[in-house]
Amino acid sequence: MAIQTLNPATNEVLKTFEAHTSQQVNQKLQAADTAFQQWKNTSFEERAQLMNRCAEILEQEADQYGRIITLEMGKPLKDAVAEVQKCAKVCRYYAENAAEFLKDEEVESGASRSLIAYQPLGVVLAVMPWNFPFWQVFRFLAPALMAGNVGVLKHASNVPQCALAIEEIIRKAGFPEDIFHTLLVESKAVDAIIENPIVKAVTLTGSEGAGSKVAEKAGSEIKKTVLELGGSDPFIILEDADLEAAATTAVKSRMVNTGQSCIAAKRFIVVEGIADAFLEKMKEKMQALKTGDPLTDDCDYGPLARKDLAEELEEQVQESIRKGAKMVLEGGHKEKDSAYFKPMIIKDPKPGSPAYEDELFGPVAIVFVVRDEDEAIRIANDHRYGLAGTVFTSDHERGLRVARKVETGAMFVNAMVASSPEMPFGGIKKSGYGRELSYIGIREFTNQKSIWIG
Ligand code: NAP
Repeated sequence: MAIQTLNPATNEVLKTFEAHTSQQVNQKLQAADTAFQQWKNTSFEERAQLMNRCAEILEQEADQYGRIITLEMGKPLKDAVAEVQKCAKVCRYYAENAAEFLKDEEVESGASRSLIAYQPLGVVLAVMPWNFPFWQVFRFLAPALMAGNVGVLKHASNVPQCALAIEEIIRKAGFPEDIFHTLLVESKAVDAIIENPIVKAVTLTGSEGAGSKVAEKAGSEIKKTVLELGGSDPFIILEDADLEAAATTAVKSRMVNTGQSCIAAKRFIVVEGIADAFLEKMKEKMQALKTGDPLTDDCDYGPLARKDLAEELEEQVQESIRKGAKMVLEGGHKEKDSAYFKPMIIKDPKPGSPAYEDELFGPVAIVFVVRDEDEAIRIANDHRYGLAGTVFTSDHERGLRVARKVETGAMFVNAMVASSPEMPFGGIKKSGYGRELSYIGIREFTNQKSIWIG
């Protein structure tokens, strides 16, 4: 795939980029390693000052950067601007808290003194997806830099201008030269980057397939990885739920980023007594959404990020229908040369079909009608992914009980799944391992060193 900006709303190629040669990549890695030797000795105060400056730039220029996001991957401009503003929050969060999260921890032991020190590892490679092209990067970069690491980014091939804009923001904020580099490379170049001894660890956000390949390579090099992969998050609606709130949140959660979010609710598991009423509300709310030019204010959902993604999603739906799923709300990929995909609802997919087994990465809601809470939990857990999930019930204790039983990295009771700097983020099962955000995320790429004084 070429490294290029192709506006998915118009099919127009706006810019094409030459990939960096392996020599250029090696030079950048070398420079990053040299920068690390200085950076690791800087104080948290110094790092925080630069990180706060970075937050200011993101806030001041959110409109301009939001526009680049929309042009490259098609999300509505208002959402793109909000994404850039959220990046400023994560920068400020780690600027404020990194020193506390990484301070020496004194431990009671048989030593005269023993402690755990959190030290940076060096150059960390980030392989990132296009769906939140700023947020995914800053979620890694803010804690990594505050911990004293340096970063290199291999961004998705369809968002090169986002990747270069992030490099520019870091430079403008006044961080030392070479502390962060964008590597404009295709995915086939990643193995050689992982093999380079300068690279100490890898974080990947993306599909299960890419995660497995990158982790295999990193494993063979004995390098740590954090993997944030796909999901097919369950959204359980119990009989005592506030149906209006549940349906509003359900549609919002399924349609976030035009359905292209790892933590979008994808499987709606509703108990039978309220299923018809819930479905009616969901259908109505889904139909009310407006599409169009994502650069305009009046657009709730844009095109998918690429035409081939719309084709692939349509194929997954058609196969699920062929295997027995029922259509509740018609939609789909209607125009051959377009990346637009009309929201759909399908019901009762059968085991062995894509809607049951896989991730549908776009605006398709999959509905299961179940007898009771136990069956809802069983269906929720009958999946290889375990990223996050939601349960709606008016009984908080019941919500907590269900939350504990669903096999995911996060559960939200009466609320939409979302990431926030204070809470750890990540999955179990085939959704990956390791955590980003919170004090846990910043420690992932540190040497958690035991120091024992006899
Ligand atoms: P993707 O195809 O896996 O791409 C993600 C990144 O990996 C891109 O930079 C891609 O580069 C690279 N890549 C792909 N194959 C590779 C390989 N064999 N070796 C090395 N690098 C490789 O995923 P996507 O389509 O961009 O994103 C959608 C997926 O990401 C969904 O499954 C979604 O659920 C998941 N996701 C997860 C999270 C989370 O936090 N858990 C967040 C967002 C998205 P190229 O673009 O050059 O191919």
